[in-house]
Amino acid sequence: MAFHSNEYQIRLNSDRAVYLPQFPSGFHTDERFCLSVFQKSCCGTAVNVPLKEVCKDLPSESAHTSHAAIHATENHIDSGVKAIYTDRSKTDEGTGSAYCILENYGIIASWQGKLDRSNSVFQAEILAIRMAIETVSSLHRPIKIWTDSLSNLMAILNPKSHHSIVREIQTLLLFHEHIHLRWLKAHVGYLGNEYADQLAKEAIKGDPFLLPKPLSYLKAEIKSAALSIWQDNWDNGETGRSTHDIVPKVSNEPVGWNREEIMFVIGHGPFPSCLLRFNLRTHDNCSCGEKGDSIHYATKCPFTLSWHFQTPTVSLKLLWLKNILTNNLSRTRLRLLMRFICDENNLIVEDNN
Ligand SMILES: [Zn+2]
Repeated sequence: MAFHSNEYQIRLNSDRAVYLPQFPSGFHTDERFCLSVFQKSCCGTAVNVPLKEVCKDLPSESAHTSHAAIHATENHIDSGVKAIYTDRSKTDEGTGSAYCILENYGIIASWQGKLDRSNSVFQAEILAIRMAIETVSSLHRPIKIWTDSLSNLMAILNPKSHHSIVREIQTLLLFHEHIHLRWLKAHVGYLGNEYADQLAKEAIKGDPFLLPKPLSYLKAEIKSAALSIWQDNWDNGETGRSTHDIVPKVSNEPVGWNREEIMFVIGHGPFPSCLLRFNLRTHDNCSCGEKGDSIHYATKCPFTLSWHFQTPTVSLKLLWLKNILTNNLSRTRLRLLMRFICDENNLIVEDNN
């Protein structure tokens, strides 16, 4: 089959992007070519022979959405012989899964399943393929199952997949060599694909079909719950209150402070006030005689005059600290100040004992 680079160019998703180095041209390429490269590089002996023909028999022309064009295109694919089409749909109301069996351009059988809105489109499509394979497994002549989901086909082609339904499909295909999976382009007017799409949309309004929620949904739920508990503990904790004032919201993203900045913000550094708390000094006085906490060194202490900031009022102390941490010049000065305190600690923090 000729390679129509312009006709089928699409942007690759992350699933396919890993195979990019093997493509001769840029970021855009043909899905069929992508799949054939995938098959050559990944398809082990565990996958059935018919799967290796997934790329064959693809319609060579995109159809228009008019009825005549749909008919002509379908006629071009298989001349009305029996074939199965699967599709899925997802809205706020739920996720729909469906397949239909077409013969002589008419639906002779179909199946619809409604899944929860938390179920993914991947799950819906893989379920439709699974149900379709089960339905035609008793036939004893070759039959094609058409899907427009490349990610599902890639999952089925992956001999290392851990997805339970994918594993079931792989096993079924091993024992039913007359079943052939095929990819076709979506939403270009292929009759069976349009029928299956319509059935999947209608399925959302039907009776629910129970399927375990996808791992991605569970991970997101667990992450959200964990963050909520963490936030609650952080809001109602007793320690780290000064840090809470600056970083009130918990997050998995690092705040981006370096070691010196963290020492300054949380007050855990070579300050007399901190050393006294850990019984490493007998007093919290700086050598200059005043209480030696982080603010003292940043604003008042004569030993650190070169790096002083303007003294904040009590009510604006939080804003003052935030401004320092969001200004690159201030952060540089703060880092130099902290390095001086660390290096010259014995000079500025005297211990009477
Ligand atoms: Zn001092």
